[in-house]
Amino acid sequence: MRVHSLGDMKAIQIFETGGPEVLTLAEIPTPEPGAGQVLIQVAATGVNFIEIYFREGRYKAPLPLVPGAECAGTVVAVGAGVTTVAVGDRVVTVNALGAYAEFALAPAEKVVKVPEGVTLEQAAAVFLQGMTAHYLAYSTFPLKAGDTALVHAAAGGAGLLLTQIASSIGARVIATVSTPAKAELARAAGASDVILYTEVDFEAEVKRLTEGKGVDVVYDSVGLTTFEKGLRCLRPRGLMALFGGSSGAVPPFDLIQLSTLGSLFVTRPTLWHHIQTRAELEERAGAVLGWVAEGKLTVRMEHRYALKDAAQAQIDIASRKTTGKLLLVM
Ligand code: NDP
Repeated sequence: MRVHSLGDMKAIQIFETGGPEVLTLAEIPTPEPGAGQVLIQVAATGVNFIEIYFREGRYKAPLPLVPGAECAGTVVAVGAGVTTVAVGDRVVTVNALGAYAEFALAPAEKVVKVPEGVTLEQAAAVFLQGMTAHYLAYSTFPLKAGDTALVHAAAGGAGLLLTQIASSIGARVIATVSTPAKAELARAAGASDVILYTEVDFEAEVKRLTEGKGVDVVYDSVGLTTFEKGLRCLRPRGLMALFGGSSGAVPPFDLIQLSTLGSLFVTRPTLWHHIQTRAELEERAGAVLGWVAEGKLTVRMEHRYALKDAAQAQIDIASRKTTGKLLLVM
């Protein structure tokens, strides 16, 4: 059933790869859901680094492209064969086909209903990074009480959520951030120790804080500037979970280092491989949205932008000045 009359919608389009200026506000036809798809009237869209990588051409996609995959909103139409969601449902997804727009298509099996007690903005703000924090803390290195984790960029979107989840499990979180204001946020999220890694040698500080033992796991979303030092912060047989590269990509390195530094493990995980089945998506989504509904997980939403200001949002997330989540609100 269709309740939205087809017409044009506002969307951000990219016709060629490049800097933030290639993000162009356009009027394009509102898409219609095909079989197995839903059309979402978008309330809020999450801004993520991956959209910058597509905009720059580091990750490839056919052009013209409407960027964005994470959004929450209301279902306004469903395609043939869709039975799991209906028109009027409040939903969230990380698999929208162009979420920098007033309306977005998504595969019905990749859409999750937003529970009572969670706003659409909260859902869009927490979904991608919350499920990332969930898989890092429960699957990549299943934390237990008493473990010690080093969380880089702990006042960022993923960092604040991971710090809360890891400390709620009972792990000790040593956090790194670049400013005293960010240190306050990391502490409020549960970090027991916070290192200003732009001023202090974090390797020496981690060794001091762990009395030379090292940490059980490093969760590293920063990449280039932190990876090698992070390896030296691990205890023997510890795990490096390199899940992003906000400072740049880590260059190839000699695997023999893993041996000499203590039979270390390294993984480079992505969310997509942790929500591949419907069961796994529902499990992680249910946990994260449930914690938000219960007030056990706080999502920080200080940065809201109109759709037309998407370029500014991308400039800001890459500028290192933001904390928590950046949203486009329609
Ligand atoms: P953040 O909100 O964490 O923003 C990036 C932060 O990285 C900054 O605030 C800054 O914190 C830190 N940083 C350190 N060096 C730099 C630098 N040179 N330039 C910019 N920032 C820097 O972003 P997200 O939480 O959205 O994402 C973080 C990373 O994680 C991204 O690379 C993203 O692609 C990745 N990611 C990966 C996922 C996966 O499944 N693999 C899923 C989600 C995100 P500070 O000022 O404290 O240093």
